[in-house]
Amino acid sequence: MNGVEIVEVSPRDGLQSESVILPTETKIELITRLAQAGLGRFEVGSFVNPKLVPAMADSAEVFRGTRGLSIDQIALALNGRGVLDAIDAQADEIRYVVPVTDTFAQRNQSSTTFDVIDGWNEVAPLINDSEIISTVVLAVSFGCPFEGNVPTSRIIECLERLDLLPNAVVLADTIGVATPSQVSALFERVTSVLGAGVKLGAHFHDTRGTALASVMAALGAGVRQFDSSIGGAGGCPFAPGSAGNLATEDLVYLLQRESFCKDIDLDALIVTGKWLETQLRRDLPGRVLSAGNFPSQVVNDSAGVA
Ligand code: ZN
Repeated sequence: MNGVEIVEVSPRDGLQSESVILPTETKIELITRLAQAGLGRFEVGSFVNPKLVPAMADSAEVFRGTRGLSIDQIALALNGRGVLDAIDAQADEIRYVVPVTDTFAQRNQSSTTFDVIDGWNEVAPLINDSEIISTVVLAVSFGCPFEGNVPTSRIIECLERLDLLPNAVVLADTIGVATPSQVSALFERVTSVLGAGVKLGAHFHDTRGTALASVMAALGAGVRQFDSSIGGAGGCPFAPGSAGNLATEDLVYLLQRESFCKDIDLDALIVTGKWLETQLRRDLPGRVLSAGNFPSQVVNDSAGVA
């Protein structure tokens, strides 16, 4: 993949905020189609309270149903119980979400930021012992819908409270407010704090149309892992005004034109995005989904075109 990895978050981040709850077999078909198009890493589901997030109630079944695919299966967890469920589901990677503002932590996890970090400090050894890849996702790193701008010092304070460093840290722009210079500065600062041993990932939303600009800035800062959701499905149920995730086909289009991710079949992604629109019974916001690939078909170089 030329060194850039995409984490497809539609089965979890995408579907959990959609009004239509897809049947388990449709979720499995979604992951299968995207895996066949060349995507290799998926947020398959989350182990959270099914009363609060009913769309994720069948996560264990989706894990089972996609285990035969040659993909990395990632589980989201918000607390120790979720981590145990993810280990039971034989997840390859567990993502633990830490909102960096107290107000967002309260809305999302009924807790404070530091209490959520204390939760990480309790479960991190468990994940380590299970030899599962661990990732801490710092939600609302680029801005909070309730508290506004987030100072860089707050992000660093959160990282310094982690007793055990995870394998990876993802900085998430949960509500889509990031701009390129902010992205460059924050990733460079975090890199200097964490050192080379911790992989960095970026999670952008395209709420204000800045996601791809943020991707380019993150690439420039050395980030090589990006989250995206086919069609731009999803959002964040607790973030007022939050539109879709960065669409996978938009990200892949950009990356391929920049000579990354050549082994992904963008046309197949577009077909699957359109299929997902019919399953969700709504238009999805991805730009390439409506505009199409370019060039529209792979043509023989020698084909004479006037
Ligand atoms: Zn998201």
